[in-house]
Amino acid sequence: MTLLEVQRVTKKFGGVVANRDISFTFAEGQIMGLIGPNGAGKSTLFNMISAIFPPSSGQIFFKGRKISHLTPPEIAKLGISRTFQNLQVFKNMTVIENVMVGQHTQGKAGMLSAALRLPSAKKEEQRLHEKAMEYLAFVGLEDVCEVRAGHLALGQLRLLELARALATEPELLLLDEIAAGLNHKETKEMAQLISKIRDMGISVFVVEHDMDLVMSICDRIIVLDQGEKIAEGIPREVQTNERVVRAYLGA
Ligand code: ADP
Ligand code: MG
Repeated sequence: MTLLEVQRVTKKFGGVVANRDISFTFAEGQIMGLIGPNGAGKSTLFNMISAIFPPSSGQIFFKGRKISHLTPPEIAKLGISRTFQNLQVFKNMTVIENVMVGQHTQGKAGMLSAALRLPSAKKEEQRLHEKAMEYLAFVGLEDVCEVRAGHLALGQLRLLELARALATEPELLLLDEIAAGLNHKETKEMAQLISKIRDMGISVFVVEHDMDLVMSICDRIIVLDQGEKIAEGIPREVQTNERVVRAYLGA
C-alpha cells in the first residue's frame, strides 16, 4: 500500500527554489533513503511532510489523505514523527522527561485532566511512563533515564531523539541525519536500530550522508540535487546512476 505520496511539490524561499516539482510514492513497510549534496533540499522536503511549512505548490498525501494544509500537531496525530538535523533535546530535563514531552504533544493525556489531577490523568501518565521506558530500553538508554539530557554524549543524544520520535508511535518516521557526528561503531548500531524499526512495521524515511549506512539499510533511495529529483531506485541502481555520480563529484 502507498503510505506517502508527494505530487509535484515545489518550495521557494524568495529566489531560491529549494524543491522543484518533486514527485514520488513511498510504499508502506520500507526504509526509503533521501540523499543528495548539501543544500539539495532534503530537509526542506521533510519540513513540508511534517508541516513545518507548506509547499509553494503541489500536494502531499498520507494514506490517501491530503496533508499539505495541516499543522505539525495534526501531522503527529496522524502518525508521522520526525527527528531534526539540529538536536532538539531539552538539556535541563531528564532523558525520560524528554521522551514524555514528545508524547504529550500527541495530546492523548489531555492537558485539562492533567491540570485537575484527575485519576484518569494519573493512569495516562503511568501508561506514558511505561511506554517511554520501553522505547528507552529499545535504543539502549534505560540506564540513563534519570540523567539530565545535558550530560549525555552525542551518540546518546541521537538515540534519545530516536526514542522520543518512536514514543509517539508513528507509522512513518522521518530521520534527518540521525547518524551525523557518530563514530563508526555508533553508526553501525544506528543502522541496526533503523532496520529493527522497519521490521516492527514502521516505515522509515532517512536523510543520511553516510553512504555505507544508506546503501546497506535502504529498500529504495531518492536522490535530490539542487532541489530536483535526479534519480530514484534500489540502492544498486542509484549507486551506478551517472547523474548521481556527477552530482556527488560536483561535475
Ligand atoms: P539539505 O537538507 O539537502 O542540505 P535544505 O533543504 O536545508 O538542504 O536547503 C535547500 C535550500 O533551501 C538551501 O539553499 C537553503 O539555504 C534553502 N532553505 C532551506 N530552508 C530555508 C528557510 N527556512 N528559509 C530560507 N531558505 C531556506
Ligand atoms: Mg538538511
